[in-house]
Amino acid sequence: MPIGPGLVTHPDYLQHAPGNWPESPERLQAVLERFRAAGVAERTQPIRPRPATRRELELVHTPQYLTSLHQLAHRNGGYLDLDTIVTARSYEVAVLAAGGCLAAVDAACSAEGPVASLCLVRPPGHHAMPGRGMGFCLLNNVALAAAHALAEHSLRRVLVVDWDLHHGNGTEAVFYSRSDVLYQSVHQSPCYPGTGWLTDVGEGEGEGYNVNLPFPPGAGDEAFEQAFTRLFVPIARDYAPELVLVSSGHDAHFADPLGSMQVTARGYRRLAAHLVDLARETAGGRIVAIMEGGYNEAALGWSLLAVLDALGGLELDLGDVEGAPGPGEGMPPEARQRIEQVRKLHAKHWPSLSS
Ligand SMILES: [Zn+2]
Repeated sequence: MPIGPGLVTHPDYLQHAPGNWPESPERLQAVLERFRAAGVAERTQPIRPRPATRRELELVHTPQYLTSLHQLAHRNGGYLDLDTIVTARSYEVAVLAAGGCLAAVDAACSAEGPVASLCLVRPPGHHAMPGRGMGFCLLNNVALAAAHALAEHSLRRVLVVDWDLHHGNGTEAVFYSRSDVLYQSVHQSPCYPGTGWLTDVGEGEGEGYNVNLPFPPGAGDEAFEQAFTRLFVPIARDYAPELVLVSSGHDAHFADPLGSMQVTARGYRRLAAHLVDLARETAGGRIVAIMEGGYNEAALGWSLLAVLDALGGLELDLGDVEGAPGPGEGMPPEARQRIEQVRKLHAKHWPSLSS
């Protein structure tokens, strides 16, 4: 009987190197060093990434975009927008990052497992739209993982929880009019990319299946905890997902240079533990967390170690960077109001919210 959560990573994930840029190979290197220092290798099961096939990529992305991204890389790279750099290696690295996430879904849905995995991949994905990359993202890893689970493993309900600092506009766009993927995002507002309004609840078949919780700057562990216990988890229980996917960006950490939020590594462990419990209740334990943003390298390392710890019940010694907010901080009154507003807005879609 294999023990421990699955871990996806690959040396090639360091080969997308846009130069002196916040989304750098050093981010992943720092996480790998943190994991080595914590001795997780003997307590996790390596899952071997494979390149996603063209057919798999087309479950989310347009053929035109895939072709132009491939050509741009092979002409030695360039810019998709001011933030988003493509290098000569970027296309194949992005395809291997997406494929790593698909391999984790395959493992979760197979009899052998592991049912719970963490994917340490880059470039990140949640801003990538069907027809264009943006915001450091080339291919939408989490959306591809969800689409793959539905298409290849005949699942009918997949939950995507996105706790990255930024709204996952790409993921939202892919599934906005569908009910087979429930998208839940908590993000700083106002902030890049300017989407993620709480009134964006999905449309047509997808109405009610898109839950946006824009948080004010200063929200921390307590606010995120309440977001989960009062909003995300009750809705998810009603939905009863067969697979839980996490857009595990950690730029809402208190030390992150791009954000103004207050979440700690321990806070992320509690959030992940809620989703592990949910996955056990409704999804046979199937949960795959996928690395997204997070731009303080030490904070990213501790935060992802905290997520791994929750996924595997490993009870690792968790540290964090200096300067954590004290108890009682991280709950701006406006955050509480936003949670109640979104509860009201979605009460007609989800029975748990009206009780
Ligand atoms: Zn982000």
